[in-house]
Amino acid sequence: NLPKIAWIGLGIMGSPMSENLIKAGYDVTGFTLEQDKLDRLAAAGGTAAPSIAAAVRDADVIITMVPASPQVEAISYGPDGILENARQGALLIDMSSITPQTSVDLAKAAGDKGIRVLDAPVSGGEAGAIEAVLSIMVGGTQADFDIAKPVLDALGKTIVLCGPHGSGQTVKAANQLIVAVNIQACAEAVVFLEKSGVDLTAALDVLNGGLAGSTVLTRKKDNFLNRDFKPGFRIDLHHKDMGIVTDAARNVGAALPVGAVVAQLVASLRAQGDGGLDHSALLRAVERLSGA
Ligand code: NAD
Repeated sequence: NLPKIAWIGLGIMGSPMSENLIKAGYDVTGFTLEQDKLDRLAAAGGTAAPSIAAAVRDADVIITMVPASPQVEAISYGPDGILENARQGALLIDMSSITPQTSVDLAKAAGDKGIRVLDAPVSGGEAGAIEAVLSIMVGGTQADFDIAKPVLDALGKTIVLCGPHGSGQTVKAANQLIVAVNIQACAEAVVFLEKSGVDLTAALDVLNGGLAGSTVLTRKKDNFLNRDFKPGFRIDLHHKDMGIVTDAARNVGAALPVGAVVAQLVASLRAQGDGGLDHSALLRAVERLSGA
């Protein structure tokens, strides 16, 4: 008997991920703020719930995929939230990328009510969500990880228990640091190559075959070539993640000199009204600095 799933947060990631669970045979009841996303869930064979409480009441496993810590707190706490309405023994898997401390606090508050919790943020983007090949970085206990693993297997390919509650978020913060710096390096190379008059398609192809190649370059190549900045992963969300990694690193005394510069460039894009664009729009920041 497969566990019954409740899914809260059906956005760019949550919609395709929940649909992969439906395809794998799970019974999924979902709630999110946009009616069109609820309609999409129902069309895919899931059940649209009228509220968080209704969605989670009978669930064995509750998965949340919302933007940031404030939304995780909003859906978890209070009389209409998950903790008040889930049944004892249910497992709450928060897959949002949030502050590690929020995950630690949530695990404690849920534990007091007999609800198990894992933090399980993901990497791999919208494409990874659709193809069910996400990397999933998990924080929590081995026993809860063992319960979650078959469910997570329907969503991702590389699924690793990183340590106690909050560890998944810490690893995700490192992931976001690496991705932002990598995009920035690619964007600088693109502007340099274009200003030099080199054929960009040829250049990116050959670069990708060598040590400069990366998942970022593979996945974002067309964004760079076509100046297509439809998200994908929004600058607003990457701004949030650069804040998380900057704070977490400061707390442990780790220096992020390059990360700090890239965080400023992400913030500047946001300040110029580009927060809704894909993070490959770091190219725009470099172009502006280069007068391109
Ligand atoms: P999104 O904005 O597309 O979706 C967020 C969803 O959360 C929306 O459908 C919204 O209705 C729902 N939501 C927000 N507040 C809610 C509430 N109070 N009650 C119910 N639903 C609520 O965001 P996304 O791109 O899917 O990202 C979700 C999370 O995944 C973020 O933490 C992000 O950092 C992370 N992430 C995103 C990507 C990506 O490529 N987009 C990749 C990896 C990780």
